[in-house]
Amino acid sequence: MNRRPFIAGNWKMNLDRESIAALLEPLTGQAADLPAVEVGVFPPYPYIAEVIRRVQGKISVGGQDLYFEKKGAFTGQVSGAMLRDVGATHVLIGHSERRHVFGETNQDTSRKMAAALDVGLHPVLCVGETLDQREAGQTTQVVWDQIGAALEGLTISDLTGLTIAYEPVWAIGTGVTATTEQAAEVHAEIRKMLSGMFSDDFAEAIRILYGGSVKPSNVDELMAVSAIDGVLVGGASLKADSFTRIVGFSL
Ligand code: PEP
Repeated sequence: MNRRPFIAGNWKMNLDRESIAALLEPLTGQAADLPAVEVGVFPPYPYIAEVIRRVQGKISVGGQDLYFEKKGAFTGQVSGAMLRDVGATHVLIGHSERRHVFGETNQDTSRKMAAALDVGLHPVLCVGETLDQREAGQTTQVVWDQIGAALEGLTISDLTGLTIAYEPVWAIGTGVTATTEQAAEVHAEIRKMLSGMFSDDFAEAIRILYGGSVKPSNVDELMAVSAIDGVLVGGASLKADSFTRIVGFSL
């Protein structure tokens, strides 16, 4: 099964208009020259519309989160319909910082998944274990629980645009990257789970990204693993030289 590689940058609460313009100029040209690779960025909300205008469809653009209610008195929140309205096509669901800094539960991610699908956003469901959970031998169970909760009650046709990002919490923003063996092992468990919940064909078609301290120096090795279909990049997606090197990974 040929899954189109997806290289995505999660800018978190970083960058401003000037640095975004400087980053997007080389990145958009590069993405246009690399149709075999999907390039995506997840800007902070205030910049999404401007980023969409600048990238002219060459790069996928998504929200870093959404709220599961459709509208109403939820100060500070943004709905899936609003993201769609300004042209976003993707959304991160259950990023580690949402779970661990803002206390988001598996039940919240499940409601957010439904809200994203309801408006036709492509969800990038982020899952991963803490260091304590890994050391206690709970990695597979934690990841299965996160995926099980998020996808429960959904059908294959609901989920055609799904991407999963395996991001061990201990590797995010720490400079420590999972080994290719560790990532491949969890990716295989995720595919096994998708196969059991849905079908073998579905499990084969879904892209599973790795995230956690991906940098120019380790992207080639990670992307050479057949179970890794792309990367979700935080820190190294903020500068044109490092992110364009990651997008231009070589096998
Ligand atoms: C992330 O935010 O999803 C991430 C993987 O961050 P970093 O690349 O900085 O570890």
